[in-house]
Formats: sequence, C-alpha cells, structure tokens
Amino acid sequence: MVFWEDYGISDEMMGTFAPIAMYWIYGGIYHMLPSLDHYRMHSRKEEEQKNQVPMATVIKGVLLQQFCQAVVALTMFSLTSQPDVQVVQQPLLVQIGQVIVAMLVMDTWQYFVHRYMHINKFLYRHIHSQHHRLVVPYAFGALFNHPLEGLLLDTVGGAFSFLLSGMTPRTSIYFFTFATMKTVDDHCGLWLPGNPFHLLFQNNTAYHDVHHQLHGTKYNFSQPFFNIWDKVLGTHMPFALEKRADGGYEAKPIKDN
Ligand SMILES: [Zn+2]
Ligand SMILES: [Zn+2]
Repeated sequence: MVFWEDYGISDEMMGTFAPIAMYWIYGGIYHMLPSLDHYRMHSRKEEEQKNQVPMATVIKGVLLQQFCQAVVALTMFSLTSQPDVQVVQQPLLVQIGQVIVAMLVMDTWQYFVHRYMHINKFLYRHIHSQHHRLVVPYAFGALFNHPLEGLLLDTVGGAFSFLLSGMTPRTSIYFFTFATMKTVDDHCGLWLPGNPFHLLFQNNTAYHDVHHQLHGTKYNFSQPFFNIWDKVLGTHMPFALEKRADGGYEAKPIKDN
C-alpha cells in the first residue's frame, strides 16, 4: 500500500508527474540556497558573462519539455497497461536489478544520441546547441533542451529503460524520480561537501561541467549515471578539481585536447 492510492492516484500518474514535481522541488532547493561562493564551480560573474540565455527563457523551455514528456509518458503507460491484470510488485532485489538495467539502457541510449548530436553539425546547430547555451549550468537548467532533444534523449530513452527493464509502473516512479534528481544535481553548479551523488557517481556535477565548457564539448558525453561509454570509446576527459583563486572550485581538464 502506498499513500497516493488513498487519494485515488494511479502509479501511472505518479510515474508521470512525480519526476516533474521533483525537478522543481530539488531545483528549487538549490535555487534558494544562500550565496555559496566557496562551493561554486564558476563565479557569478562568469555565469552572467558566459550564459547566452535568461533564466525566464530557460524555465519556459523546461516547462515545454515537461509537457511533451508528460503526454508521451501517459500515452506509453496507457498502451502498455493491461487493465484486467493485477500488477504485482516484484521483490526488492528484483526491482534493484531492474533499476540497474534501466540505468544502463538509459546511459547507452543517451551516450550515442548525445554524441551524435555533437558530431552532426546540423543537429548540433539546430537542436543540441540550445542545451549548451548554459555554459555555466544551474539546477533549473538541467532539462533546458530543444523540445525535440527532450523527446529523443530523455523521453524515448526513458521509454526504452522502462520497457527493456521490465519494471512495473510503481518501480518506474522511483527510477524516474531518481534520474531526474541526478540530472538536476549534475547541473547544480555547486560542489558541496558530502553530496551523496558526488560520493556515489564518478559521473557527477564536475564531470558534466567539463562537457559544458567550450574546451570540453568533445568529451564526457556520458549521462546521466555512469561514465562507462566515455571510458570504453575514448571520450573520457579526466580532470582535477582545483580551488579557484577567487573562491570555489574548478574542474580542470588534465589531458591535452
Ligand atoms: Zn552536449
Ligand atoms: Zn548538461
């Protein structure tokens, strides 16, 4: 029994809307934090100078992507659900296995599509460059993508992860909500001590920050969970996390490019 059942909310509705709610809650927490200049990956001045798009546009772009995402998710759930069949939750260990499979599927899909969008100049110019207009990422900008990219990278990737892992809609609530938090965290722009995402994942805020920099766009394509494909296919850019002279941190590449 889960609490949302008491309110007549289905797992499919939760699987669609919980990740969207979490995006704004988790992103909102980062947004409301006091000025933490000593933990920032870039100075505020750099953010103002390098980012090519105002926050209001970013927020509108994210809302549009989430709208498309919700429509596709509800359609997918309605096409795959069997109303006469009682869905039984599998044991926890099976669910953990399904989540790991879903993470690997999502990573594989996103790596190749993401990398291709950098190789193909037309796709980069017209689609993926929108995400790179935030050279200094922040939490609310995590899903600032061209709607087509959102659909292809996140929504289709999410559908594959769900279908190939065999998870139930209820397990998908936890998986998609976690994936959303991870993506928000990767763009938070802060290197806070004890951040569990930084402790658990080598592919984290600093790793993805390298990709957002002008010198890093040919590296660190892997997202959102592991860095396996970058390592296997030679696009991994190692970096050193150094203190900046004006406070905060900087992810400095340590390979010539
Ligand atoms: Zn990119
Ligand atoms: Zn990004």
